[in-house]
Amino acid sequence: MSRPKRSLAAVVAGVAVLSLVTAVPATAQSATGAPAAQKCSDEPQDLPVHEFTDHRELGGELERIERVSGGVVDVDEIGRSNRGREIWSARAGSGPKAVLLTSEIHGNEKTGTDALLRLLRFVGTSDSPKAERWRDELTIVAIPKMNPDAAELDRRGNDMTWDDVVQRYPQLADAEPAWNYYTGELQGDDYSQRPGFDINRDYNPDLSYEPKAADFPGTSADTGWYLSPETRAVRDVYIGLEEEFGTVDTYVDLHHQGACYVMPDDPDRFVTMSISGKFVDDPAQTPGYEEYADEYDLDYAKQLNVAAYNALQGKANKNPLFGNITLYPQDINLPGTGLGSFALNGSGAVLFEVRGQTQTLGQKYREQLVRTVYTGLDGILSSVASGQVDNLDPAVYDAIPPRGPSIGDRARTVAEP
Ligand SMILES: [Zn+2]
Repeated sequence: MSRPKRSLAAVVAGVAVLSLVTAVPATAQSATGAPAAQKCSDEPQDLPVHEFTDHRELGGELERIERVSGGVVDVDEIGRSNRGREIWSARAGSGPKAVLLTSEIHGNEKTGTDALLRLLRFVGTSDSPKAERWRDELTIVAIPKMNPDAAELDRRGNDMTWDDVVQRYPQLADAEPAWNYYTGELQGDDYSQRPGFDINRDYNPDLSYEPKAADFPGTSADTGWYLSPETRAVRDVYIGLEEEFGTVDTYVDLHHQGACYVMPDDPDRFVTMSISGKFVDDPAQTPGYEEYADEYDLDYAKQLNVAAYNALQGKANKNPLFGNITLYPQDINLPGTGLGSFALNGSGAVLFEVRGQTQTLGQKYREQLVRTVYTGLDGILSSVASGQVDNLDPAVYDAIPPRGPSIGDRARTVAEP
């Protein structure tokens, strides 16, 4: 697996921190023996990620799950990435409610892929009543590592160039490159040598949209274009599910956020995960989006989030990190994200943002964070399968504590999710 070089500045800073620690070991604890206040760094580093599942391993594991499940899990290639890597979907269950799950649209946000594999193993092989109910009531379609090019580069964006885009869409020959085409430095990765896109701004709620030069360069508050083969592949799966089920009941997209956010009431507790169901301005009140107002169901998205929140809180006694869940900022308007676009098409959409991307935490908390994602997904799927989700109070969502400040030493330089 090829790994990008983090910026020289990051390497130098890492050396500086290391030598400081070596020189002054006594600062680790205060004189009273109490632990020193927790430190946290957002400074990009080059950290190992081999414990995460890479693209080749994903193919092998999906094949194995399909085989041991006796066909309960059905794996398909739904397309190829810009660099020709397979994009796979795995489908399980025959129920009337369609649930779409995606991970690793940002290649430095890897826990979701491992959580989805765990979930597929469970639904594919368990004879527990829970797994049976999921299979009876749900049709689960997971697209793990939907952006394999960025995943293999272990960075946020892929390496599709603007020339690649114009070659594919000649009508864009005179257009300005998209605003989400990276050509500079980001999260310690040097895109000037290897430019690429944040494809989580490449979606459009108009599922039949084709790129038009007049719509470029666009902004974060605009819709995207389905320029990338990856977003097209996910869109095509979404359209197929709409044709089959009428609507895609639930859509969950799995991400990571900054490493240094703390709880609003306690600067010593890091936020394990932030969640959200709100990604776009209310279409009923937004010129140009009125056509989506009837389908859009923010209350249902809130109920799904409450299901995830309750599942984690319910296990927080044994696993205190599950107690550190916060609400992601609600003031975002991102119709070019998968979450925004699919929410406008009537799906209950849920964002998970676990702590720390690979350039800050590497694989350090992999198991804990994968468990967090899995437990949240379990809460959602169980609640949708049983129908209990309809009894949950959306007001509980509004009472989830907001994310506290970041105590990191480096200003956040990129929009999330
Ligand atoms: Zn992300």
